[in-house]
Amino acid sequence: MNRFENQIAIVTGAGRGIGEAIAKSLAEGGAKIACVSRSEANSAKVADAINAVHPGAAKPYAVDVADKKAVEAAAAKIFADFGKVDILVNNAGITRDGLAMRMSEEDWDAVLDTNLKGAFNFIQAVMRPMIKQRSGRIVNIASVAGLMGNAGQANYAASKAGLIGLTKTLARELAGRGITVNAVAPGFIKTDMTDVLNENIKSAVVGQIPLGRFGEPGDIAAAVAYLASADASYITGQTLTVDGGMVMA
Ligand code: NAP
Repeated sequence: MNRFENQIAIVTGAGRGIGEAIAKSLAEGGAKIACVSRSEANSAKVADAINAVHPGAAKPYAVDVADKKAVEAAAAKIFADFGKVDILVNNAGITRDGLAMRMSEEDWDAVLDTNLKGAFNFIQAVMRPMIKQRSGRIVNIASVAGLMGNAGQANYAASKAGLIGLTKTLARELAGRGITVNAVAPGFIKTDMTDVLNENIKSAVVGQIPLGRFGEPGDIAAAVAYLASADASYITGQTLTVDGGMVMA
């Protein structure tokens, strides 16, 4: 199904995990992909894997999303390489967990700068051309932590709740220009990020998930593809929770 034919997508954090699954799924739908990740090796690995199946569909960009100047330079290169951007998926994210009482300024700043400012950096870099073309899809990857809070993740939960507020605000600012802005809030998904949790924590978490298991990166990619597609053209400012039923509003 070529629902993203002739479309250009930027996926940040495309080097592993959920971002890799999103990049591959949009490419499967016919999109061309700018694979952004922090390391050159991971962005190149995923772009190569996509090109092996869809020749010429992907290019790698090694960028720290927290660095505004670097993001502006990367976006300029992406526009030069592909000519336009139709879809932006802000997925790059990190955790630096610890109780608030002992959380260092560095751990607070690193998480907010990557997860929240990083998304805003890329949004600002693509916003003007999207407004000009009067179309666009922006999908921000939040987290259930941003909806319900999570002890030990003050920085992470604040960054993800911030992303949800950013999503709603930009949805209002950009709706008149044919651009939708939505968020996906994953629950616990099997990636490097959750692999570091010890077995006790993992089984305690599974006990809180009505569907009784962690999700797969593909579960998030499917939700992102829907929100990025023409099928979702009347949906904006929403947060779609994909968490096996953990959070029910
Ligand atoms: P992951 O496996 O740790 O992968 C994170 C990706 O983000 C990597 O490709 C990494 O680049 C990239 N990245 C990190 N910091 C970056 C920076 N400063 N600039 C550019 N790229 C950066 O994480 P994941 O589990 O797939 O998570 C993806 C997103 O989903 C994150 O926003 C996360 O908060 C969110 N999320 C995940 C879960 C979960 O259970 N896994 C749950 C809720 C929300 P390199 O590969 O180059 O290092």
